[in-house]
Amino acid sequence: MLRFDAMTSDSASDLPTLAAFRNEVRTFFNETLPDAVASTSEGTVERGRAWRAALFDHGLAGLDYPTEFGGRGVSADYVNAFREESRSLVPREDMMFGIAVGMAMPTIRDLGDSHLKERFLRPGLRGDEIWCQLYSEPGAGSDLASLRTSAVRDGDQWIVSGQKVWTSGAERSDFAILLARTDSSLPKHRGITMLILPMKQDGVEVRPLVQMTGKAGFNEVFLDEAIVPAEWVIGEINNGWRPAVALLGHERVQTGTASIGGAADQYSKEGRAPIPFSQLRQLAERTANVDSPLTRQDLARLHSGERIMGWLGAANAHPSIGKLWRTRQGRLAAECAGAMALAGSAAWANDLSKQANLDADFFAFQILNCRGMSLGGGTDEIQRNILGERVLGLPAEPGPSRDTPFHDLLI
Ligand SMILES: Cc1cc2nc3c(=O)[nH]c(=O)nc-3n(C[C@H](O)[C@H](O)[C@H](O)COP(=O)(O)OP(=O)(O)OC[C@H]3O[C@@H](n4cnc5c(N)ncnc54)[C@H](O)[C@@H]3O)c2cc1C
Repeated sequence: MLRFDAMTSDSASDLPTLAAFRNEVRTFFNETLPDAVASTSEGTVERGRAWRAALFDHGLAGLDYPTEFGGRGVSADYVNAFREESRSLVPREDMMFGIAVGMAMPTIRDLGDSHLKERFLRPGLRGDEIWCQLYSEPGAGSDLASLRTSAVRDGDQWIVSGQKVWTSGAERSDFAILLARTDSSLPKHRGITMLILPMKQDGVEVRPLVQMTGKAGFNEVFLDEAIVPAEWVIGEINNGWRPAVALLGHERVQTGTASIGGAADQYSKEGRAPIPFSQLRQLAERTANVDSPLTRQDLARLHSGERIMGWLGAANAHPSIGKLWRTRQGRLAAECAGAMALAGSAAWANDLSKQANLDADFFAFQILNCRGMSLGGGTDEIQRNILGERVLGLPAEPGPSRDTPFHDLLI
């Protein structure tokens, strides 16, 4: 296997061939990774950090990032090859780095200044720092530009006050990508600035929100004069809508392809990816549904859906299409599982059989969780609006004038 110090060279001649690269990825997953996570327990932050650190230290964490920030600087062919070789092998603990690796780091890479890149890219890619996304507010979800959290410049820092909600992973995060209003005399899409907020400070209070799944996957975050260093601005002051939209684009890619790197057959309760087809087929066999014409029809549709999901990712389809398809697949898969497992799926059965308990716990979680997946990262309706306006060129939906100062819209 190539060593990391050799891989950081800028010289094109040091690049492995695609075939050698694929071999390197296989060696990493088969030989290096098991040793790297051996002393950690499943589902823990420690295992997540051990996995990301091993990936980064072997030059595989930032394939399309510049080498000066710990990346590999290689073309999309290598990124696609990695995706193919790592399919079903990425540990589920990687999900805790989804916001850092899938959204915050690419935004900083593309739109941050050199100081921010220097400070944040390496630890973000390596999993040394965990990130969350402070966008949504009680009055600003789909209509994100209505956000009211304010940031006021005071000498060499920003003072931030307001409330955010639905913040996934806030409880374990070190930093947040924050959208705050910095000038309410400007129209609502202007006067917003993207800041990097340190989460571990007195002015930040995180309160978990327990969902019907029984898990607290997201939080309310109360900001009471929280402090951000003056220079931790991504893009320009009052022009944060541009990086905000760029990050949402990365989020849609991430959520649209979330299932592609995940395990093919797992009993994880993370719920970010639809129930894999292989698991539905096993359930059909165990519940004696495999000969039922209705179940067979559903399974055939879900098998095709899973294949299409993979192709959409490989074909770099518009991220809104990928997200719509994935969440549709998630709902159909959960419904199919629910129909097969009947009461066992929703009643949290306490059966004597270990496998039945595992099923009940997992499928009940998926059935209750799958609807929320259609909302996070922008609802289905919003994805269709995006496709209508930005892809099909339909006229923008009516709303208040884009030139009205934000403070005149407040009631
Ligand atoms: C699992 C999950 C994780 C999340 N994680 C985060 C996170 O980490 N950070 C974060 O900032 N936010 C997060 N969110 C919040 C998410 O982005 C919002 O829930 C989403 O943007 C919708 O906003 P809302 O809930 O306020 O619903 P609303 O915007 O109030 O929408 C209510 C309904 O009206 C529809 N609607 C609204 N506007 C239109 C329109 N113009 N055209 C057609 N229909 C419309 C919507 O589709 C929806 O059905 C998460 C949400 C979920 C469910």
